[in-house]
Amino acid sequence: MPYKTVYINPTVPGRPRTSVFVIYTGGTFGMVYDPKASQLIPFDFERVLDRLPELHRLDFEITLITLPEIIDSSNMKPAIWVELAQIIQKNYEQYDSFVILHGTDTMSYTASALSFMLDGLNKPVILTGAQLPIGVARSDARENFITALEIAAAVDAAAVDAAAVDDSTVSSTNPRSEKPIVPEVCVYFNSLLLRGNRSTKQESVQFNAFASENYPHLATAGVSIDYNRPYIRPYQPNQTLSLHTVLDPNVTILKLFPGITQPVVESIVNIRNLRGLVLETFGAGNAPTDSWFLDTLKDAIDRGVVVFNVSQCEGGRVTQGQYQTSKQLLQIGVVSGADITTEAAITKLMVLLGQEHDPAIVRRLLAQPISGEMS
Ligand code: ASP
Repeated sequence: MPYKTVYINPTVPGRPRTSVFVIYTGGTFGMVYDPKASQLIPFDFERVLDRLPELHRLDFEITLITLPEIIDSSNMKPAIWVELAQIIQKNYEQYDSFVILHGTDTMSYTASALSFMLDGLNKPVILTGAQLPIGVARSDARENFITALEIAAAVDAAAVDAAAVDDSTVSSTNPRSEKPIVPEVCVYFNSLLLRGNRSTKQESVQFNAFASENYPHLATAGVSIDYNRPYIRPYQPNQTLSLHTVLDPNVTILKLFPGITQPVVESIVNIRNLRGLVLETFGAGNAPTDSWFLDTLKDAIDRGVVVFNVSQCEGGRVTQGQYQTSKQLLQIGVVSGADITTEAAITKLMVLLGQEHDPAIVRRLLAQPISGEMS
């Protein structure tokens, strides 16, 4: 599928320091207000670029492609995650880093999914977007995008010094020898860089849209960008990228609430072909102890449905067995999600179920961190 492509070359003199590949998927970032329909609708990126003349002042070259259909991210789906992963793989050798412009509503799901799909990633993949469209004077789009590009392009200072000795190591078309500072999938938003699979959209009105309650911020952007290096996944010189592109759609999320009835739980766990269930429990992973509830879950687990226990609390962790109300979950074979987010849990299930058929293997893999999503 040919993509609409724009090349942005720096006007600053000298050879570009690095190359960034940008994928525009849509979202508020590039939307415009349609007065006829009284609503925000996605907009062509060529026209968005008119609002960003400062991109030419960066000392790196940018290649920007637009997906065939620009979407509000509420329409995001696994097929588009596969497309994004394949685009990254196709351009992996040629570009030093990647930025994805994405709607905020499902950005944490996409970041989580990509963190599991891009196995062996060793380059930055930074997702960002905006709460206000770029055409609005007070928009946060410009700062988010430009800082995301800066973070994607950031390399280890020591490595740059070494590379400067041999200028041939810096090329606009060949991969660099410097080490990227953030070789993982991240969300950058409102001055904070977060590990993608630890992020959650927490706010739909204020600019601070994303939080990472259970993992420290990877960087804070002020006058300078301060990286929290001990928490950033280290660069692995010998890693090579490979993709997991089969995602099993036969998964769902069940959020518990006081008063949930047997027919509701039964109708969810008995969905035809269901293979994975994220159970959003109370507090430290607690659930009702009614026998109908535990029996229904146990029957599903015995049939091969993998049940993953994730807390409804944004911070803290599931500790199955701490309370009587979670001990039986442990006994019937529910897997603890520890401090994982719901976004990471559901996408991890899709990816693992896409790779493995044996529920026992899926349960074992679920319980271990794959890409820094739980601790
Ligand atoms: N509905 C928009 C989206 O997720 C919201 C945003 O981008 O902030 O695409």
